[in-house]
Amino acid sequence: MPLLDVSVRVRPALAGFEPYDPAFSPCEVNLSANENTHSLPAEVTEALREAMVTTPLNRYPDPLANELRDELAAWHGVARNAVMVGNGGDELLFNLLFSFGGPGRSLAVCPPCFEEYKNFAKMCETEVVEVWRCEDDYSIDADALIEAARGAAMVMITSPNNPTGDLVDPVLVRRLLDETDALVLLDEAYVEFAPEGASLVPWVAANPRLMILRTLSKAFALAGLRCGYLIAAPEVIDVLAAIRQIYSEDVLAQSVAMAAVRAREALRPVVSDIVAERARLSAKLSELPGVTQWPSEANFLLVRVPDAATVRARLRDEFSVLVRDFSYAPGLSDCLRISVGTHEENDRLLAALAAILK
Ligand SMILES: *Cc1c(COP(=O)(O)O)cnc(C)c1O
Repeated sequence: MPLLDVSVRVRPALAGFEPYDPAFSPCEVNLSANENTHSLPAEVTEALREAMVTTPLNRYPDPLANELRDELAAWHGVARNAVMVGNGGDELLFNLLFSFGGPGRSLAVCPPCFEEYKNFAKMCETEVVEVWRCEDDYSIDADALIEAARGAAMVMITSPNNPTGDLVDPVLVRRLLDETDALVLLDEAYVEFAPEGASLVPWVAANPRLMILRTLSKAFALAGLRCGYLIAAPEVIDVLAAIRQIYSEDVLAQSVAMAAVRAREALRPVVSDIVAERARLSAKLSELPGVTQWPSEANFLLVRVPDAATVRARLRDEFSVLVRDFSYAPGLSDCLRISVGTHEENDRLLAALAAILK
């Protein structure tokens, strides 16, 4: 008998959840979480450092992070009231389901995709309708998604998708907006790694049900800072502004994010290098025996190798290289997700994989 049986006390919808496990083990080369591992230009590091050391901590943050919203709004050519900042994109995803989901409503998703959509939906007592991607090329069955979205409060699709790496066809987004009445969340966490013009942010102004999620965790190399943002209709932003944890975006996150967004032009070469490394890594992987891979527009590659769980364990234990194992996940048997690292990190991974797969 436990001293306190919380199972009968916890809110039923929240029973059974486990703490998030990033499956992290300390390794010399960590290519498991799609972080940006490149060193940043000195002017950027200096600007971030300056923001950190000059920000007073004794005052509460601006709850709505208005200065940062203005900078993001100016960048994306929208008004402040079309932007909301959150403690990582994750907070915004949760708040979207908290706001627009709930009992009797459903969320349509296209797995394999980001698992948090489903978790947050369940926490918010929102039914999840899964429209599984095709097993071999991970394409979305557009008609099936439209059908599911017709009855849904919201659709969450990822472009480029994590972990499959593909961009969503804009024609599908167009159809979701035209043929359904659902709110459409397009998660562009990795869009900076995709070709110019891949983002559908320019569509938001004319399509009030379209919402775009972005984050500073990936291309901006600030996963530890916790800053993401949503671009959406002012009506949607107003709801999120009203229900948010008032001080979730702390003063350091606001000021460092501001410095990073202002330095966005200086970060372009870093992103270009990751994109070039992605192509090199992909080409080298295709020379290894037994590796299947899918085209990626993000900063990671999804690969299938024989006995992936063992390969992942050997990479970690014998070569101190960490990648993400998805082989347990439906639709992703024997799949590993490898983040694109620096030239040296990618070479370490390639040498280790070559040794394991030979
Ligand atoms: C990383 C990621 C996010 C956001 O991450 P945060 O660190 O919370 O900003 C959102 N969606 C997808 C698909 C991601 O991979």
